[in-house]
Amino acid sequence: MEEIENTFEQFELNRQLLNAVADAGYTIPTPIQQKTILLTLQGHDVLGIAQTGTGKTAAYLLPVLMKVKYAQGKLPRCLIFAPTRELVIQIDKAVGELAKYTDIRHVALYGGLGPKTQIEAIQAGVDIIVSTPGRFMDLYLRGEIGVKDIKVMILDEADKMMDMGFMPQIRSILEVIPRKRQNLLFSATFPEKVEKLSYEFLEFPTRIEVSPQATTAETVKQRMFPVPNTQTKINILAYLFKTGEIQKTIIFTRSKDIADKVFEALKGPIIAKGDIRVIHANKGQNTRINSMDAFREGDVKVLISTDVAARGIDIQNVSHVINFDVPLIYEDYVHRIGRTGRANNIGEAITFLTPAEEYHIKKIEKIIRMEIPRELIPLDVEIAPTPFDENQAMLLEIDNQRKKEDPTFKGAFHEKKNPRAAAAKKKAMTSGKSGGGSSSKSSSSGGKKYGFSKSNKGSKR
Ligand code: AMP
Repeated sequence: MEEIENTFEQFELNRQLLNAVADAGYTIPTPIQQKTILLTLQGHDVLGIAQTGTGKTAAYLLPVLMKVKYAQGKLPRCLIFAPTRELVIQIDKAVGELAKYTDIRHVALYGGLGPKTQIEAIQAGVDIIVSTPGRFMDLYLRGEIGVKDIKVMILDEADKMMDMGFMPQIRSILEVIPRKRQNLLFSATFPEKVEKLSYEFLEFPTRIEVSPQATTAETVKQRMFPVPNTQTKINILAYLFKTGEIQKTIIFTRSKDIADKVFEALKGPIIAKGDIRVIHANKGQNTRINSMDAFREGDVKVLISTDVAARGIDIQNVSHVINFDVPLIYEDYVHRIGRTGRANNIGEAITFLTPAEEYHIKKIEKIIRMEIPRELIPLDVEIAPTPFDENQAMLLEIDNQRKKEDPTFKGAFHEKKNPRAAAAKKKAMTSGKSGGGSSSKSSSSGGKKYGFSKSNKGSKR
């Protein structure tokens, strides 16, 4: 009895969909699916607070596919919006998989390449459009998309869409599509701006929430290594790979430059060249898609990515997520570590943090409502000296953080240390040196102040 309750059969989906669900290997609906599918089938507007990895895509696609049912007419009946082209491609792929036993026509619309093929697909007749808001509006304004048959509209990762400035396009879209329709809004987080959007977009919605905290705590083991500087982060990373402690791993970095730097440091001596890739906004779109496919297929073991490049991408069975640095958009921490520990596998998330990142990790710990265990740097790892510039940058950052918390704080670093720093910098500049990698003097002063003095000698312990 119980088993029958907890299957996809309970939703009375048609045979085509049930077969596709079985092919996808889904046996038990995830909590968000349990809560969303029936409500959506009944025609309710839904506000879903769920992050990627919870099964939210199938939670909205299955009832939508059930409604769209089969190919009909030329004009689209369902619109799905997502913030990035990678996510658009991924959702469209999920549509393809779940609709594979139907004749439903679907197309992914996104920028970065010419619209010709996309326009041809629309003209041939389409039932479901998955799009970024920008590209949709472009093509609509060119008169390429008829919207009068739209019955369902979905905004996925609404928080990111707003962060990325898509609100004006979403408003324009809402103005042109038929008023009488069903709306679904999914968001990983629920800040005030998304709440506001939900009032505009949804009618008497049912709010469904699956707790990311619980998922995080249950299936992802988290730990942190406080370190004095970037080079030591690289050293620990190399050590973790060498000892085989980490295998299929995504390494997240805060910026493109750091992503490239980590890539250069690991490729070759630490990880065979063919086993590691880096993706970020400067890489061409095809390169990014190829790299992600190769990683997904297991041909590539290590993927280095910025948060933006990895947004919403479903990559499963990752054994480890490395936060090479602490994300400044705190929710990204949850997004990042959500990539491991999926589908009931225990995953591990390892975060490296410098003294300047302490501030941010405290905020993150508040959001996830837990303290992430801290570990000592392994004995065999060389603790690199902190280059002068990096040390100064960290001190300045810490100063700014203190000022942010306490507006009366004048800034110890500025007043006391700045003249020396400025003089040293001037000297370094006139002598043509960057100041990087050499100053044991400044590193030990940084070390003393922030508790790294005992080990911060550039030596092997
Ligand atoms: P999403 O949160 O939509 O990005 O989905 C995360 C991953 O979970 C995807 O790879 C889905 O294929 C997978 N998935 C979705 N629903 C289920 C399910 N009921 N059982 C097992 N895996 C699922």
